[in-house]
Amino acid sequence: MVLSICYSLGGETTLHTPLYILIDFEDDDMYGHSVEDDYGVSPATAAQFIYSKRHRHASCTEPLEEEDDEYEQDDKSKASCPALSSLDQARMYSCLDQMREVLGESVAEQVMMDAVLQSGFDVPKALDLVFGQDSNRSKKPVTQDASPADRPGKGKTRELPFPDAQILPKIAKLTVSGNKQTMGFAVPSTPSELNGQSVTSCTRGQAMDDTMEEIDNHTLSPTLSNASLISEDLNSTPSQVKIIGKSKQKINIKEELEKRQGGKQLLNLVVIGHVDAGKSTLMGHLLYLLGHVNKRTMHKYEQESKKAGKASFAYAWVLDETGEERQRGVTMDVGMTKFETKTKVITLMDAPGHKDFIPNMITGAAQADVAILVVDASRGEFEAGFEAGGQTREHALLVRSLGVTQLAVVVNKMDQVNWQEERFREVTSKLGHFLKQAGFKDSDVYYIPTSGLSGENLAKKSEISELTSWYQGHCLIDQIDSFKAPQRSVDKPFRLCASDVFKDQGSGFCITGKIEAGYVQTGDRLLVMPPNEACTVKGITLHDEAVDWAAAGDHVSLTLTGMDIIKINVGFVFCNPIEPIRACTRFRARVLIFNFDVPITRGFPVIIHYQTVSEPATIRKLISVLHKSTGEVVKKKPKCLTKGMNAIIELQTQRPVALELYKEFKELGRFMLRYSGSSIAAGVVTEIKE
Ligand code: GDP
Repeated sequence: MVLSICYSLGGETTLHTPLYILIDFEDDDMYGHSVEDDYGVSPATAAQFIYSKRHRHASCTEPLEEEDDEYEQDDKSKASCPALSSLDQARMYSCLDQMREVLGESVAEQVMMDAVLQSGFDVPKALDLVFGQDSNRSKKPVTQDASPADRPGKGKTRELPFPDAQILPKIAKLTVSGNKQTMGFAVPSTPSELNGQSVTSCTRGQAMDDTMEEIDNHTLSPTLSNASLISEDLNSTPSQVKIIGKSKQKINIKEELEKRQGGKQLLNLVVIGHVDAGKSTLMGHLLYLLGHVNKRTMHKYEQESKKAGKASFAYAWVLDETGEERQRGVTMDVGMTKFETKTKVITLMDAPGHKDFIPNMITGAAQADVAILVVDASRGEFEAGFEAGGQTREHALLVRSLGVTQLAVVVNKMDQVNWQEERFREVTSKLGHFLKQAGFKDSDVYYIPTSGLSGENLAKKSEISELTSWYQGHCLIDQIDSFKAPQRSVDKPFRLCASDVFKDQGSGFCITGKIEAGYVQTGDRLLVMPPNEACTVKGITLHDEAVDWAAAGDHVSLTLTGMDIIKINVGFVFCNPIEPIRACTRFRARVLIFNFDVPITRGFPVIIHYQTVSEPATIRKLISVLHKSTGEVVKKKPKCLTKGMNAIIELQTQRPVALELYKEFKELGRFMLRYSGSSIAAGVVTEIKE
């Protein structure tokens, strides 16, 4: 019983509407995206943006010009070099080339030239000089107001420019069984943790000394790139990895899956929608009606919510577990619950609707197979959620970009509009138009009128005449039951992206997450990427029950030993050590730019979100603009990207991230880019550089 998130519009390649922009990431995979109109940026407007950006970000201090594939080339021509004899010039370029091998793009050309001259063309000495400057500099934080002299040059910034506190990494987490200790991203400190880490990472304010040894190795052998360091580590991995403990029996996973599910298919469901649309109330009430919350607990929630002056939130409390959520009356985490329908076992994720929590929502959506979009039917409320600033559109676009193709649209709070058919039609026609533009097929979108508060049309067909007079379709639970369960990649090498890390009783620690591919058995050795460390699976918990194995599509909790919890972060990928996932800091991707008014230029800071990862990065190169339908290159090395464009770009992350090529592993090869609290693009990985 297979589930993976897959894009498929059944060969539909073009829609003849000017509002529709289509991205065709791979032959069978495409989705569309709407833009209000064709966005034309006059050269003057673009120049204004570029001008103001230059003043905002240190990275944009250089004049923006057509990109060169080899940045080094244009560096050489621009950095001011004292008059040298032609022989010395040649020596200079040779030294610079060798230093680039070690330093990558992290140090300005001028700094390197000065060091080469000071050291008398001696590369190791020149590197020492640069590193010496670097360690002094790393003690002094680069601020927005730093004088230009203090700023790193030429967009190859040492400190990536993140002007906005909002775009610092946020930690996505999922709550499973209430046992939770979410770890932040720790900066690795032990030598083994530096494996696979880019040399430029030493310039991120990390103590220089820790990495000097690594860099020295590079100095001795300038051709040894980071990539070769990483692959060396990976190559050495299989020898470290051996099955320990009692020999375990290999299982026939497909047979076991058939047996385990007793014919029931697994489905991961995410609930999305504007804040206050009634998502928590709806799902809380559904769970109550299905008998997942006993009467006593429900009574307790009712009493407590009354006491807190929020009586109408009683059902929402079934899902909003933490005190803070209750106090604020908004869902922050992605809550997870299991329930069953006639033919399916559902893992329900209740994603936060509030704008501040969209990174958490992305985490939920990345793990979902299907989605329920809840909208508030009340007059004015639907419009507020649907128009600019509301989350209805952004959420729908996000889930589609993250691979969800089937959608149930719950038109909620129908009691507020007296179950009027006219209002239902008004809401659904507006939404239908938009959802089609966003890339959902009409036949995969289902509309259901409900009242989450009164429980109407949730667990059984409503019998109230105001509704039955015009609606004979599914109730919510029947709709969930009739979703198609997608194919799961059980045959592929094991992959799980950690959504939570916590200490359990006993010697090991636990991680939770959805198995994206393959399967895992107790006793298996796993490799954790990017830190490139091995650990052993001591136990597996699925839906609060201990099991011997689990497979793609399962949301599990793994108890692990043989590794220190300190080294594990949310977002790390646990994988098969023989066929591991790659770690990189530089990769190319095909992106679709959303409705975003600022032209995107080289050096643009973004946050990459995929699975449970949120990682700061910069757009390092704009490679080409592609034709929206055919995918042909229409412009090479563009100066900027504007809304609606389809393009190939190169991204540079601050720290290594574990990624896959989209064509090999869809689930781990697609991501979102956000900037300053807005989603600005969706993308798929096309090439992993280093
Ligand atoms: P969420 O932010 O989308 O999870 O929304 P909540 O479930 O927290 O609900 C927001 C408010 O809408 C609460 O006061 C609910 O009682 C109310 N609400 C939810 N569903 C309905 C409904 O079907 N009818 C009415 N009248 N109110 C509802």
